[in-house]
Amino acid sequence: MILLQNIQLEGRPVNLFIQGERIHRILPFPETDGLSADETVDCTGKAVIPGFVNMHTHAAMVLLRGINEDLPLRQWLDRIWALEAKMDKQFIYWGTKLACLEMIRSGTTTFNDQYWFAPYARRAAVEMGIRPYISFVILDRFDPALAEHQRRKCIELYEKSLEWKDAAHLAMSVHSVYTVSEEMIRWASDFALDHGMKLHIHVSETDKENIDCRKAHGGLSPTEYLDSLGVLGPHVVAAHSLWLSDHDIELLGKHRVNCVHNINSNAKLASGYRFRYRELVEAGANVCLGTDGASSSNNLDMLETMKTSALFQKAWRDDPSAWPLHEMMDAATVNGARALGLETGEVREGAIADLSIVDLNNSWFLSPGSFLANLVYAAHSDVISSVIASGRFVMRDRVVPGEEEILRGAKEVLKQLS
Ligand SMILES: [Zn+2]
Repeated sequence: MILLQNIQLEGRPVNLFIQGERIHRILPFPETDGLSADETVDCTGKAVIPGFVNMHTHAAMVLLRGINEDLPLRQWLDRIWALEAKMDKQFIYWGTKLACLEMIRSGTTTFNDQYWFAPYARRAAVEMGIRPYISFVILDRFDPALAEHQRRKCIELYEKSLEWKDAAHLAMSVHSVYTVSEEMIRWASDFALDHGMKLHIHVSETDKENIDCRKAHGGLSPTEYLDSLGVLGPHVVAAHSLWLSDHDIELLGKHRVNCVHNINSNAKLASGYRFRYRELVEAGANVCLGTDGASSSNNLDMLETMKTSALFQKAWRDDPSAWPLHEMMDAATVNGARALGLETGEVREGAIADLSIVDLNNSWFLSPGSFLANLVYAAHSDVISSVIASGRFVMRDRVVPGEEEILRGAKEVLKQLS
């Protein structure tokens, strides 16, 4: 048992006991209720928050950051795809390790990944101690032979995943309606439903995606098209969900779809920024946050994502209350957990102990203002001093084991791109 002693939880000092992978008891400090711990960590001057759940990323793309800047999405994607053709399993393994290092340092303990060579991404994340939701990516480019190959590979990976006994989960990914045939969207959706898997797909990331979809599918938007195929449901994770009509929002709400806002990527690629947060929530959708890959958002920092999401929402709505802080925190944590069916994203007894310890002994937290405001709007993620995932420390006092080896491995595989 681990005891986080005298740690601030929502403004009050508590003793937080962790047993195995779960939060066992939370008691007002200094009570212990007779419990004894194998390890007591003095957390005086520190606060605890839930580990972040990054609901949409392409982790190994950290190795592509800063490449292809200042391009619109389609040109950017063409260049990224040319580079991806040079990647192999080792590239993904070391890229994901590096991504996990960055995620841990910024307080993320679960991530929903959509990238290649999934078993290697899984191995990397499991070794780092955080929870990957990885996926088999369907992207057939309307080529029946490629579709058949991906179907076979997907079934193979699913069968292998049944033997996984660690924190990793397998999801189904369909890249988007503009890269995947109708037949494969239907197949992936049926396969996901039959096997209780989440279905992760990019939806209405750009206006152009909508225009092209309406042309190709009798006037239907991507959301309407997916609905017409019977794909939408509470197991669907719709990344971006940015260019939505009232009817799209009604459908996403009705089917309890999980919509992931990725503002840093959207704003930087000039895809748009008018995410309709309030309408989605009121319609019944579950809104979560993601960073997208670091090739577009340049980092995997959820605190930064929260700040940018809030600023854009307040600005374009002309309303400072457009996305209140406690709802923003939920979008970065427990909403993602709900979307993935995980008991994490909350600091409560019985939940999985995925936690960040925030150091309050710095200028950001001196004022008597709101802790969340100071954390999201003022501080940077280096105030996160330690991170616990599934009840185990994955970072202590800013040290993540194996950092030097990861940097060496990443440098080595980067030679593949030249
Ligand atoms: Zn993406």
